[in-house]
Amino acid sequence: AKELGRNNFQFFSEDMNTAILHNLEVEKELNIAIKRNQFVLMYQPKICIADNTITGVETLVRWRHPEKGIIPPDNFIPIAEETGQIIKIGAWVLEHSCHEMGALIREGLMPKNAKVAVNLSAKQFSDPNLLQTVLDILIQSKIDPLNLELEITESIIMDDVEAAIKIMEAIKSKGIHLAIDDFGTGYSSLAYLKRFPIDVLKVDRSFVSDIPEDKTDMAITSAVIAMAHKLSMKVVAEGIETQEQLDFLRENNCDDGQGYLLSRPLTLPQLHHFLVSNQKQ
Ligand code: C2E
Ligand code: CA
Ligand code: CA
Ligand code: CA
Repeated sequence: AKELGRNNFQFFSEDMNTAILHNLEVEKELNIAIKRNQFVLMYQPKICIADNTITGVETLVRWRHPEKGIIPPDNFIPIAEETGQIIKIGAWVLEHSCHEMGALIREGLMPKNAKVAVNLSAKQFSDPNLLQTVLDILIQSKIDPLNLELEITESIIMDDVEAAIKIMEAIKSKGIHLAIDDFGTGYSSLAYLKRFPIDVLKVDRSFVSDIPEDKTDMAITSAVIAMAHKLSMKVVAEGIETQEQLDFLRENNCDDGQGYLLSRPLTLPQLHHFLVSNQKQ
């Protein structure tokens, strides 16, 4: 038993070494990526479910690695978060998101009140420079604060509720919109929810994806929509992949939808094309 224990320990620690080495390697490569601008943005349209018009886009970052190709955010954002590199990457994402939204509105391809939604990580959210960074970017990109929406997860808020409410209120006071992402997967209690100065609640994909098979998920989704409306929040459902899901959400008065059925995340040229052909309809 002793023997086994020791072997297990060695195996485990070798595994950990590999993980640490991997993370160190990624950290080094991320520094190069930041210097050489290796990030690209995809834009996923958000559609008003009642009338099928576009209300905005969510930007989703990718890392275009010179040898490894396109790396999805889940494979590098957590590491960038740990090392603090997310602050620089996040600022780049914010800057480009706002810049492109400004251009699209001025070209008449996006409605004047369209929103670009940007995901914030925990480190960015608690960065004391966040608001100034965002305000500077809004001025540079000549867009109104109402054109920007910041998406934060429940777990970021629940980490330190009182501090989070202060940060959210500061953001709100500038007219910038706030959305809770992945709603239903964290631990935020309903008692807290009414204290959050949130404009939008995004129902997590895990509830939407099992409609219409999972009756519990359907009950939760319709209850969340009704509750959010009572709290004067808009509801966005994410991960809509089938017509049945979209129909259910429409019947339950969900405001906006996002998902492969409506549009995959698009490159900027693809988004242009999407908007132009939408206008012609
Ligand atoms: P998220 O914010 O929940 O983003 C939605 C994810 O679901 C995206 O994955 C999107 O491509 C995917 N998706 C959209 N519609 C559908 C659908 O109909 N079906 C399915 N199965 N998936 C769908 P992606 O782009 O890989 O992003 C993963 C996560 O990475 C995001 O989850 C977000 O948490 C994070 N992320 C992405 N961009 C950024 C960023 O700029 N900053 C930060 N901090 N995090 C980011
Ligand atoms: Ca999001
Ligand atoms: Ca989400
Ligand atoms: Ca589910």
